[in-house]
Parts: sequence; C-alpha cells; structure tokens
Amino acid sequence: MKTLEPYTIGMGDRFAHQGRAQLRAVLEAWDLGLTPHPVWNKSNREHTIVHSRPEDLRAEADSAVNALLWNRPYYVDADHIGLKTVDAFTGSADFFTLDVADFVGKPGGDSVRFEKFIAPWGKQVNVPGLDRPLTLDAQALAGATSKFLKAMSEAGAIYRHIASAKGTGEFVTEVSVDETDSPQTPDELFLILAMLAMEKVPVQTIAPKFTGRFNKGVDYSGDVARFEKEFDEDLAVVAFAIREFGLPASLKLSVHSGSDKFSIYPAINRLIKKHGCGLHVKTAGTTWLEEVIGLAEAGGEGLAIAKEIYAGAHARFDELTGPYATVIDIDPARLPPVAEVASWSADQYVRTLRHDRGCPDYNPHFRQLIHVGFKVAAELGARYTGALKAHADIVGANVTHNLLERHIKPIFG
Ligand SMILES: [Zn+2]
Repeated sequence: MKTLEPYTIGMGDRFAHQGRAQLRAVLEAWDLGLTPHPVWNKSNREHTIVHSRPEDLRAEADSAVNALLWNRPYYVDADHIGLKTVDAFTGSADFFTLDVADFVGKPGGDSVRFEKFIAPWGKQVNVPGLDRPLTLDAQALAGATSKFLKAMSEAGAIYRHIASAKGTGEFVTEVSVDETDSPQTPDELFLILAMLAMEKVPVQTIAPKFTGRFNKGVDYSGDVARFEKEFDEDLAVVAFAIREFGLPASLKLSVHSGSDKFSIYPAINRLIKKHGCGLHVKTAGTTWLEEVIGLAEAGGEGLAIAKEIYAGAHARFDELTGPYATVIDIDPARLPPVAEVASWSADQYVRTLRHDRGCPDYNPHFRQLIHVGFKVAAELGARYTGALKAHADIVGANVTHNLLERHIKPIFG
C-alpha cells in the first residue's frame, strides 16, 4: 500500500503558478527540522470554476518537485470527488478525497450487516484516553446508522471504483464528511470508522466536521476549549479504531481548515504531540489570497488588478458567495465601498487584506469576499496570469512566508 507519512500539508493554488513557492515553504520547514510532506490538492469545484484540468495540477507538482530537487514522497489529491466526478482524476492523482457528505442522512446501506459487525464491541466501549465510555446502545447505533451508513457504503463504492482503475494499493484514500450541516461527535467518528472498516476501505485520512465554524480564509470562530476537547477525543478514537478494526496504522485526522485557523493551531500542535500521532491539514485559499496581496504590493498593474477583483466580487456578491454560503460570514455593511478601495494605496489594500490579527486595518469581511473572488481573476485570463508571471518574485515570497510561518510552523513545529 502507498503509505502516507505522519505529517502532510495540503496545499494548492487556483491558477497553478505557486507550486514552487509552496514547495519552498516545505523545504525550508525541513531545514528547520520539521517533517511535513506536500500534498497538492484541488477540488473538482475549483477546477470547474477556473476551467483547469486535473492533469494541470499533476504537471505543476511534478515541475516544482523537479525544479527544487524535492526527493521525498509527495502526492496529488483529487479533492472532494465522488463517483460522478472521479474519472477525470484517476490518471493524474494518487490521493483521493472521497466526499460523501451529500449522502449523510440518506437512507440506505446494509444496517443488519452493520449491526452484526459492531455487536462484538457491546453497548459501551472504553477507549484509552477518553474520560467516558462511548455509547453504542440501540438508540446510538440507530442514529449513526441512519446518518452515516449510506454515506460510508458510497465511500466503499467510490474506493472500489478507483481501485479497479488504478490498482489496489496504488493510491491514498481519504474520506471526508466535513461539508455537512452539523459536526460529528467522537462517538459518531468511531462508528463511521467501523463502517469504513466493514466496507474494507483502507482509509488513511478522515476528515470529520469539527465543532465551530471554519470560514474560508479567516480564523476559527467558536469555542476553542471545546474544539480542543473534541479533537483530543477524536485522536483517541482514531488510535483505538486502528487497533480494533484493523484499519491502516497510518490513519490520521485530516483538517479541512478553510485556511488560517490560527487560534486552534496551538491546540492541534499540543495534541498531535500528546498523542504522538500524524496529521493532515488542507489549505488552498490562503495561497490565492497571498497572490492578491503580492499583486497589490507590486503596485501599478498588479494593484489595479487587485482592485478590479474586489470591484468585480462586490458587484457579483450573490453569485460568488452563493456556492460558499455555509463557509463564509460576510457582513455587507462592513465592506468598504468600491470607490473608496479604488483610491487606496498598495499599502492600505495589503493591510486590509492580509490576515494579521494585530493590524487595526485588517478586515475579515473584505478578505472573505476576495477569497470567493477568484472567478473574477479567472475571467481576466492571460492578463491575470501575466501579472502573476511579471510579479512572480514578490507574490512567491508572500506565498512561501505565509505557508511556512503562519501554517506549517505553528501546526507541525
Ligand atoms: Zn473539505
């Protein structure tokens, strides 16, 4: 089996220009004694919006790896795929995120078979490291079965479909249920992993939905102490499930961060050390935002483009925010008027957009709107990518610094 290393960082950019700048952050981390492995991720949704193809991401990753002489394993993630979308990715990806969130709560799956499978664990399960037993009584089982059994049987179907195309053991399997309405409890995570074991899915990363809000490109919103307790319990459950269900020893949690969850990184860092376990963290939007910051910083045409992206996103607010409604919280009243932004200096634009919690000008509403504004940049076509090329140095420096200093170091350091 292709076995995933303990620490992996998911990274990606909308326009396939920051492969090297991102890999440079990983290389610098290794120079400092940290050991993250890169996973280039791009969701089907993103490919559709910017009209890129899965092979483009593979080409970007390979070319960065060759240019910077990266000689350790790396991965290309078909992020958030399902049976309907996976075929376009089977040639170029070696990491697949099976998104089964749409099947959560749907009827289906063989509940009689699952009841037999889980029966040996009894009505209460003592998990080392948990201060309470997990409840597996009839009510808890019925609840979890009606919520997750169909979704996990779908994960089995997607896994087998990919395995038949690529060969068993030739790829890494992640299962994601993060894009659902409500978070999953550690008790539910245990049963989800049991269902995947029953389906014989060799899951190596599992992305539950955690408590709190993971809005795009901005900090965590929620009770940090509660998150820490839940994450601690989830890690205990994962370690236990590996032993009990014979799941891959490399199985770990995957945090679909939506980027920039700075206030929970210290808790995550403490807990992976406490448990001595691995972790996968996905980012992507943060690198797109660094591109815009770099262009604004460059001034001239770069700043003009950054302002156009804001104006375009502002004018098409409903269209662009619609697909992200559950993962953004923008108060339109807190958005600066387009005419005002048009008069801003490079410095003012950058101070408003950059995720610096200590800066009084930082505006998370502005930042979230730019986050969903990449469609406007995509429509600028060669003018946008031309600016990325012209200002590759300043953009790349922002991308590398952000990924290394604000993400990799606090999480894995
Ligand atoms: Zn996700």
